[in-house]
Amino acid sequence: MEKTLVLIKPDGVQRGLVGEIIGRFERVGLKLVAMKMVHASHDDVDKHYALTEEWMKAVYDKAKAKYEANGQPFPYPDHIAYGTEIKRGLVDFLKSSPIIALVLEGEMAVSLVRKLVGSTEPASSAPGTIRGDLSHDTYALSNTQNRPLRNLIHASGNVEEANNEIKVWFTDTELYKYEHVNDRVQYDPAWFMS
Ligand code: ADP
Ligand code: MG
Repeated sequence: MEKTLVLIKPDGVQRGLVGEIIGRFERVGLKLVAMKMVHASHDDVDKHYALTEEWMKAVYDKAKAKYEANGQPFPYPDHIAYGTEIKRGLVDFLKSSPIIALVLEGEMAVSLVRKLVGSTEPASSAPGTIRGDLSHDTYALSNTQNRPLRNLIHASGNVEEANNEIKVWFTDTELYKYEHVNDRVQYDPAWFMS
Protein backbone atom coordinates (compact mmCIF):
# COMPACT_ATOMS: atom_id res chain seq x y z
CA MET A 1 0.00 0.00 0.00
CA GLU A 2 1.24 3.51 -0.75
CA LYS A 3 1.89 6.15 1.88
CA THR A 4 1.60 9.87 1.23
CA LEU A 5 2.38 13.05 3.16
CA VAL A 6 -0.09 15.84 3.82
CA LEU A 7 0.61 19.17 5.52
CA ILE A 8 -2.27 21.36 6.63
CA LYS A 9 -0.67 24.74 6.06
CA PRO A 10 -0.95 27.71 8.46
CA ASP A 11 -4.07 29.04 6.67
CA GLY A 12 -5.84 25.67 7.18
CA VAL A 13 -5.01 25.61 10.88
CA GLN A 14 -5.87 29.29 11.38
CA ARG A 15 -9.20 28.92 9.62
CA GLY A 16 -10.20 25.99 11.84
CA LEU A 17 -10.37 23.52 8.96
CA VAL A 18 -8.21 20.76 10.45
CA GLY A 19 -11.14 18.49 11.36
CA GLU A 20 -12.91 19.07 8.04
CA ILE A 21 -9.78 18.27 6.04
CA ILE A 22 -8.78 15.17 8.00
CA GLY A 23 -12.42 14.02 7.92
CA ARG A 24 -12.36 14.00 4.13
CA PHE A 25 -9.37 11.66 4.13
CA GLU A 26 -11.01 9.40 6.71
CA ARG A 27 -14.26 9.31 4.76
CA VAL A 28 -12.62 8.17 1.54
CA GLY A 29 -11.19 5.24 3.49
CA LEU A 30 -7.54 6.25 3.89
CA LYS A 31 -5.75 5.08 7.01
CA LEU A 32 -4.07 7.65 9.25
CA VAL A 33 -0.66 6.21 10.18
CA ALA A 34 1.09 9.31 11.60
CA MET A 35 0.10 12.80 12.69
CA LYS A 36 1.57 15.73 14.61
CA MET A 37 1.33 19.48 15.07
CA VAL A 38 4.63 21.21 14.30
CA HIS A 39 5.88 24.77 14.41
CA ALA A 40 8.28 24.13 11.55
CA SER A 41 11.85 25.37 11.41
CA HIS A 42 13.45 26.98 8.39
CA ASP A 43 15.40 23.74 7.81
CA ASP A 44 12.29 21.51 7.88
CA VAL A 45 10.56 23.57 5.21
CA ASP A 46 13.73 24.09 3.20
CA LYS A 47 14.22 20.31 3.02
CA HIS A 48 10.56 19.71 2.26
CA TYR A 49 10.43 21.97 -0.81
CA ALA A 50 13.43 20.98 -2.91
CA LEU A 51 14.33 23.96 -5.09
CA THR A 52 15.12 22.23 -8.38
CA GLU A 53 15.06 23.93 -11.73
CA GLU A 54 12.43 21.38 -12.81
CA TRP A 55 10.13 22.52 -9.96
CA MET A 56 10.71 26.19 -10.77
CA LYS A 57 9.88 25.57 -14.41
CA ALA A 58 6.71 23.65 -13.50
CA VAL A 59 5.55 26.38 -11.08
CA TYR A 60 6.26 29.03 -13.72
CA ASP A 61 4.51 27.17 -16.55
CA LYS A 62 1.41 26.40 -14.47
CA ALA A 63 1.00 30.04 -13.43
CA LYS A 64 1.70 31.39 -16.93
CA ALA A 65 -0.93 29.07 -18.44
CA LYS A 66 -3.55 30.27 -15.93
CA TYR A 67 -2.81 33.95 -16.56
CA GLU A 68 -3.06 33.37 -20.29
CA ALA A 69 -6.30 31.40 -19.94
CA ASN A 70 -7.72 34.42 -18.07
CA GLY A 71 -6.54 36.79 -20.79
CA GLN A 72 -4.03 38.42 -18.40
CA PRO A 73 -0.44 39.17 -19.41
CA PHE A 74 2.13 37.16 -17.42
CA PRO A 75 4.64 39.81 -16.36
CA TYR A 76 7.43 37.55 -15.06
CA PRO A 77 10.19 36.93 -17.62
CA ASP A 78 12.38 34.41 -15.81
CA HIS A 79 11.38 31.05 -14.30
CA ILE A 80 14.41 30.92 -11.98
CA ALA A 81 13.72 34.31 -10.41
CA TYR A 82 9.97 33.53 -10.20
CA GLY A 83 10.49 30.05 -8.71
CA THR A 84 13.11 31.24 -6.23
CA GLU A 85 10.76 33.95 -4.98
CA ILE A 86 7.87 31.46 -4.59
CA LYS A 87 10.10 29.10 -2.62
CA ARG A 88 11.29 31.94 -0.34
CA GLY A 89 7.68 32.93 0.33
CA LEU A 90 6.69 29.31 0.97
CA VAL A 91 9.42 28.82 3.56
CA ASP A 92 8.33 31.98 5.40
CA PHE A 93 4.66 30.99 5.19
CA LEU A 94 5.09 27.39 6.38
CA LYS A 95 7.13 28.39 9.41
CA SER A 96 4.95 31.38 10.34
CA SER A 97 2.60 29.43 12.62
CA PRO A 98 1.85 25.77 13.49
CA ILE A 99 0.95 23.25 10.83
CA ILE A 100 -0.35 19.66 10.96
CA ALA A 101 1.66 16.90 9.31
CA LEU A 102 0.04 13.57 8.55
CA VAL A 103 0.77 10.37 6.70
CA LEU A 104 -2.04 8.51 5.01
CA GLU A 105 -1.91 4.97 3.72
CA GLY A 106 -4.05 3.12 1.18
CA GLU A 107 -4.33 1.72 -2.33
CA MET A 108 -2.95 4.41 -4.70
CA ALA A 109 -2.90 6.84 -1.77
CA VAL A 110 -0.69 9.44 -3.49
CA SER A 111 -2.92 10.08 -6.50
CA LEU A 112 -6.10 9.65 -4.45
CA VAL A 113 -5.05 12.41 -2.05
CA ARG A 114 -4.03 14.72 -4.91
CA LYS A 115 -7.48 14.18 -6.44
CA LEU A 116 -9.20 15.12 -3.17
CA VAL A 117 -6.90 18.14 -2.68
CA GLY A 118 -7.50 19.68 -6.13
CA SER A 119 -5.26 21.79 -8.33
CA THR A 120 -2.76 24.35 -7.07
CA GLU A 121 -4.80 27.53 -7.58
CA PRO A 122 -7.88 27.44 -5.31
CA ALA A 123 -10.01 29.63 -7.58
CA SER A 124 -9.73 27.11 -10.38
CA SER A 125 -9.75 23.94 -8.25
CA ALA A 126 -12.82 21.84 -8.96
CA PRO A 127 -15.80 21.97 -6.62
CA GLY A 128 -15.76 18.91 -4.38
CA THR A 129 -12.02 19.19 -3.80
CA ILE A 130 -10.57 20.53 -0.55
CA ARG A 131 -9.01 23.57 -2.20
CA GLY A 132 -12.03 24.16 -4.46
CA ASP A 133 -14.59 23.93 -1.67
CA LEU A 134 -12.73 25.67 1.14
CA SER A 135 -10.57 28.37 -0.47
CA HIS A 136 -10.62 30.78 -3.42
CA ASP A 137 -7.21 32.48 -3.71
CA THR A 138 -5.81 33.31 -7.18
CA TYR A 139 -2.36 33.39 -8.77
CA ALA A 140 -2.90 37.02 -9.71
CA LEU A 141 -3.76 38.17 -6.17
CA SER A 142 -1.02 36.16 -4.48
CA ASN A 143 1.59 37.33 -7.01
CA THR A 144 0.49 40.95 -6.66
CA GLN A 145 0.80 40.63 -2.89
CA ASN A 146 4.13 38.87 -3.29
CA ARG A 147 3.16 35.81 -1.24
CA PRO A 148 2.46 32.12 -1.91
CA LEU A 149 -1.04 30.92 -2.75
CA ARG A 150 -3.13 30.27 0.36
CA ASN A 151 -4.35 26.86 -0.66
CA LEU A 152 -4.67 25.22 2.76
CA ILE A 153 -2.77 22.05 2.18
CA HIS A 154 0.26 20.31 0.74
CA ALA A 155 0.10 16.78 -0.65
CA SER A 156 2.95 14.76 -2.16
CA GLY A 157 2.97 14.81 -5.95
CA ASN A 158 4.27 11.29 -6.58
CA VAL A 159 5.53 8.23 -4.71
CA GLU A 160 9.17 9.31 -4.73
CA GLU A 161 8.26 12.77 -3.41
CA ALA A 162 6.09 11.11 -0.73
CA ASN A 163 8.93 8.88 0.48
CA ASN A 164 11.31 11.83 0.72
CA GLU A 165 8.79 14.15 2.37
CA ILE A 166 7.67 11.60 4.98
CA LYS A 167 11.30 11.40 6.15
CA VAL A 168 11.44 15.19 6.60
CA TRP A 169 8.59 15.18 9.13
CA PHE A 170 8.53 11.71 10.73
CA THR A 171 10.96 9.14 12.09
CA ASP A 172 10.33 5.44 11.38
CA THR A 173 8.99 4.87 14.89
CA GLU A 174 6.39 7.62 14.43
CA LEU A 175 4.84 5.74 11.51
CA TYR A 176 2.34 3.34 13.11
CA LYS A 177 1.58 -0.14 11.87
CA TYR A 178 -1.81 -1.23 13.18
CA GLU A 179 -4.94 -2.94 12.02
CA HIS A 180 -7.85 -0.64 11.24
CA VAL A 181 -11.33 -2.14 10.73
CA ASN A 182 -11.41 -0.53 7.29
CA ASP A 183 -8.41 -2.66 6.27
CA ARG A 184 -10.63 -5.73 6.40
CA VAL A 185 -13.75 -4.20 4.89
CA GLN A 186 -11.93 -2.53 2.02
CA TYR A 187 -9.09 -4.87 1.19
CA ASP A 188 -9.63 -8.37 2.66
CA PRO A 189 -10.98 -10.56 -0.16
CA ALA A 190 -12.45 -13.00 2.39
CA TRP A 191 -14.41 -10.35 4.32
CA PHE A 192 -17.74 -10.52 2.50
CA MET A 193 -17.57 -14.26 1.72
CA SER A 194 -20.13 -16.42 3.50
P1 ADP B 1 1.07 21.88 -5.27
O1 ADP B 1 1.00 22.30 -3.81
O2 ADP B 1 -0.29 21.93 -5.91
O3 ADP B 1 1.80 20.58 -5.48
P2 ADP B 1 3.44 23.23 -6.33
O4 ADP B 1 4.26 22.09 -5.85
O5 ADP B 1 3.57 23.62 -7.76
O6 ADP B 1 1.90 23.04 -6.02
O7 ADP B 1 3.80 24.53 -5.46
C1 ADP B 1 3.94 24.44 -4.06
C2 ADP B 1 3.16 25.56 -3.39
O8 ADP B 1 3.72 26.81 -3.77
C3 ADP B 1 1.70 25.67 -3.78
O9 ADP B 1 0.85 24.81 -3.05
C4 ADP B 1 1.40 27.12 -3.51
O10 ADP B 1 1.15 27.37 -2.14
C5 ADP B 1 2.71 27.79 -3.89
N1 ADP B 1 2.74 28.25 -5.29
C6 ADP B 1 3.02 27.49 -6.38
N2 ADP B 1 3.01 28.22 -7.50
C7 ADP B 1 2.72 29.48 -7.12
C8 ADP B 1 2.57 30.71 -7.82
N3 ADP B 1 2.73 30.78 -9.13
N4 ADP B 1 2.26 31.82 -7.12
C9 ADP B 1 2.12 31.77 -5.79
N5 ADP B 1 2.25 30.64 -5.06
C10 ADP B 1 2.54 29.50 -5.70
MG1 MG C 1 3.86 20.13 -5.26
